[in-house]
Amino acid sequence: MEQSTIINWLREENPQEYKRLFDQAYSIKSATVGNKVYFRGIIELSNICQKNCYYCGIRKDIKTNRYLMTMDEICDCADFASRNGYGSIVIQAGERQDKDYIRLIDSVIIRVKEAAHGALGITLSLGEQRKEVYKRWFNLGAHRYLLRIETSAKELYEKLHPHDHSFNKRLKCLYDLKEIGYQVGTGVIIGIPGQRIDNLYQDLLFFQRFDIDMIGMGPYIPHEKTPMNNVGVDIAQNLTLSLKMIALIRILMPDINIAATTALQAIDPFGREKALQVGANVIMPNITPQEYRLDYDLYDNKPCLSETPRECKRCLSARIEKIGETIGYNEWGDSPHFYKKL
Ligand code: SAH
Ligand code: SF4
Repeated sequence: MEQSTIINWLREENPQEYKRLFDQAYSIKSATVGNKVYFRGIIELSNICQKNCYYCGIRKDIKTNRYLMTMDEICDCADFASRNGYGSIVIQAGERQDKDYIRLIDSVIIRVKEAAHGALGITLSLGEQRKEVYKRWFNLGAHRYLLRIETSAKELYEKLHPHDHSFNKRLKCLYDLKEIGYQVGTGVIIGIPGQRIDNLYQDLLFFQRFDIDMIGMGPYIPHEKTPMNNVGVDIAQNLTLSLKMIALIRILMPDINIAATTALQAIDPFGREKALQVGANVIMPNITPQEYRLDYDLYDNKPCLSETPRECKRCLSARIEKIGETIGYNEWGDSPHFYKKL
């Protein structure tokens, strides 16, 4: 697709017109990765964060109840995932780089691998770390890593983060992860104030140029306690833009894994199903214990706060069956793109 075609799709306002884009993306998805949806049970391990991204509800400067799950709780979650046929888990948290924390993550990976006899795939989403740390976690058995670039436009990145946060450092982390051998996932926040349509176009090119294996991108949703809470956002437009971005990347990179992110459901009750119908093929059911869910509030109106992991599973399975897709139980569901590259 040419630059002008992509930009025109991103600008298209007529739903009947952009439905053609969505349909094309869905048929490409069916022909390449198929109609199986893979589950990654997400464990929101801790909301303690040393960073201060202006848009985020768990940024360091926000006064909130901070938690770190215990090892037993983490293992219980992993056990729930494997008993329920989720092929993989995602361990996500705010960013910490201290030695104690790094050792704790070491033990988590070892314990989860042992408990599931190696059957459970482990994806990490623990922010920026030194290359040695990424390597150590990879050698212990984590094989995928999610680190959103947030925006590929350096000047916009700098507006959305304090001075001591570095775009180049984040980019280097992505290169380190790739070099080590992880399946690497990245993504951007869509519709964040200051972002232009051509930034989104450049984001798509960035994913292609970096030859990414997985994508997790979703709409920007304000959080009332952040410095960005007063900036107006068009939620409906962000939903449509997010769906268009998913459709476009499915067409541009047919064999990667694309997540239907939870943020989509925060702004539309059927946001995740809609994403599956325009090209996404991965869902991340929340398996964090209920008592912690409220405190992992990256943005306002986060869905599924009062549901138990069991209820989330039942609800999601029904939703997926309803749109005619199947669930890849007990499968890692790795990105075919990653293996083709190898
Ligand atoms: N600390 C890690 C992982 C947890 S944050 C990291 O930053 O990589 C996970 C993702 O939440 C971030 O990458 C960001 O894209 C998203 N996020 C944070 N605040 C958000 C908001 N207000 N709206 C939408 N997404 C948000
Ligand atoms: Fe911390 Fe991640 Fe939120 Fe930034 S986006 S403040 S790194 S949890």
